[in-house]
Amino acid sequence: MESNNNENSQNQEKKIDNKPTRERRPNPHRQNKSQTHNPNRKANPNQKSEPKTVDGNIHEKEVNGNKKPQHNKNNQNKKHNTNSNPNAKTTSKPYSQNKSKSKGRKKNVTTVNDAMKASMKENKLVQEARMTPWKKINIASKGKVRFTPLGGLGEIGGNMAVLETENSAIIIDVGMSFPDETMHGVDILVPDFSYLHTIKNKIKGIIITHGHEDHIGAMPYLFKELKFPVYGTPLALAMIENKFNEHGLKADSKYFNFVTKRKVYDIGDIKVEWIHNTHSIIDACSLAIETEAGTFIHTADFKIDHTPVDGYTMDLQRYAYYGDKGVLCLFSDSTNSHNPGFTKSETVVGKTFDKLFDLAKGRVIMSTFSSNVHRIYQAMQRGVDHGRKICVIGRSMERNIETNRALGFVDIEDKHFIEVHEVSKYSENEILIVTTGSQGETMAALNRMATDEHRHIKLKPSDTVIISASAIPGNEASVSKLMNLLVKAGVTVRYKEVPDIHVSGHAGQEEQKLILRLVQPKFFLPVHGEYNHIAKHAQTAIECGVDKRNILLMSDGDQVEITPKFIKKVKSVKTGKTYIDNQNNMTIENDVVLDRQKLAEDGIVNIVAQIAQSNQKIVGKPVISTHGLVPDKEDKKFSKEMEVLLETFLLNMKPEALKDHRGIENDIRAVVRKHVVRTKKRYPLIIPTIFIV
Ligand SMILES: [Zn+2]
Repeated sequence: MESNNNENSQNQEKKIDNKPTRERRPNPHRQNKSQTHNPNRKANPNQKSEPKTVDGNIHEKEVNGNKKPQHNKNNQNKKHNTNSNPNAKTTSKPYSQNKSKSKGRKKNVTTVNDAMKASMKENKLVQEARMTPWKKINIASKGKVRFTPLGGLGEIGGNMAVLETENSAIIIDVGMSFPDETMHGVDILVPDFSYLHTIKNKIKGIIITHGHEDHIGAMPYLFKELKFPVYGTPLALAMIENKFNEHGLKADSKYFNFVTKRKVYDIGDIKVEWIHNTHSIIDACSLAIETEAGTFIHTADFKIDHTPVDGYTMDLQRYAYYGDKGVLCLFSDSTNSHNPGFTKSETVVGKTFDKLFDLAKGRVIMSTFSSNVHRIYQAMQRGVDHGRKICVIGRSMERNIETNRALGFVDIEDKHFIEVHEVSKYSENEILIVTTGSQGETMAALNRMATDEHRHIKLKPSDTVIISASAIPGNEASVSKLMNLLVKAGVTVRYKEVPDIHVSGHAGQEEQKLILRLVQPKFFLPVHGEYNHIAKHAQTAIECGVDKRNILLMSDGDQVEITPKFIKKVKSVKTGKTYIDNQNNMTIENDVVLDRQKLAEDGIVNIVAQIAQSNQKIVGKPVISTHGLVPDKEDKKFSKEMEVLLETFLLNMKPEALKDHRGIENDIRAVVRKHVVRTKKRYPLIIPTIFIV
């Protein structure tokens, strides 16, 4: 898939490279048509003859910059470069052709006089300047920025990055991620903070973009190691505060700084503005970060919702403002970079709820992500409209609704809410239950209802269960399991077969393009995604006029240096994940998780034996037990094998070896491992316990 894409893009480039010479002459009509139909097309000389004109620009820029040798290779462009205005020359040709062609077709002649020519030239210059606002960046600036993702690249989730100038550093988000099925007993993963320790004196603050777990979930774990001022919007900080309270860090809310959107904050020598965006959580923001080197725009998670539930659209005006001033580098959300088109508005889900609430005869049980409060709010409004009382079930859901009501984001009167024990007092068509568990989490309320383990809510065939979510990759099996249980219970399930029952919170390609075109950055670093997501986003950026040499595909731990002249990877820093057990909020060491993996996959062999110092022989019978390696009925046979193995080993052992107790155990482990690998093709955990008597 990925390599295909690469091939395609390469092929495309080759074709486009050939285009100007081959295609221009024989078929000017096509070009002319599209130009007259779409005025933007003119604005896009960069895109149309991408490598050529973009290269032209780059050359100019790279001359300013430091990559001279590369552009000299290209004779075509060299020629243009000698011209004071290379682009005007390249693109003026089609226009004259345009005219001569129409002259031939139509009888009324347009005289192209000098004034017209001058105007054309001037317009061309304006257009060119408009398309490359980053050329306004002071190329002589000595400013230098280092950007280091510590999470969120090569993965979905766990977002965390560091942006540094010479004297200051800011941390952007401190998110957690989820383990895969091989990490037994691990509940969450938090980024490795080692690098932060090495630059802790430089760090001036933590910048929070929004309150999703994959952006704030690791905050308590960071604060147990290092504390810095935290900047964010009220909801995001309130959600961090909830976490701090759970972790006994109540006092640390003194580090909070509530920011106002559209205001610029000085954090060390870095200026940060929070720009309102639209996403699947309220109060989400993008960032404008100004440094001596230039301006950086970080979209953070976003989509562009023109009809958001609260009416506050994404602040595209600020994007345009910074874009026009000239942006050195754009970091943009790649989560949905494979999705063509636009992501739908959150409000379409409300319309779906209208239909589903109309159809529901009994109780309505709605489940979604507990952080998607606009989604929950829309369901609640429908509940109120249909004369239903609202019962919120599930710890995270209750807490989020409480926080959002306190902040005024959910404006529903107390009288509409009931407690779970009151549900039975109302008739079925007067009840709306809003609950957690849309991912099939076994401990969540919905799953407990489905397994008939919920204390208060027993499912009935008259119930309608709405799952307003999609399965996050990795959760498909548990969601499917939940579906089976719900269908078995006989309820009406409304899930993904209902159109617009769920919409994503991340931008599709057309939204990514809009951001790229508003910002028109010199450099582009796609973030938030696995490699295939950022690679696809890079392609979209190239289509939108960003030079492919100005795009880097990063992995966690890559440190990238950005100056007005260049972008390059300078080094790698230590990254990784720390395993967390949610039951006690404690770290699980790597070797514990490795042992668990071994146990789960290859079983265990226990050997307890006594060896006589006098004659190097086994005293009595060794006790050999295995779990998860050989079936019970073969236990005896296996023990016999082990005995023979031990005896042979002892026979060949040097007498002085008995003095090194640990050494003997290691040697026995090695011998047993060799045998088991040969006979069983497995690598079990081997625990020899040897007594020398
Ligand atoms: Zn998010």
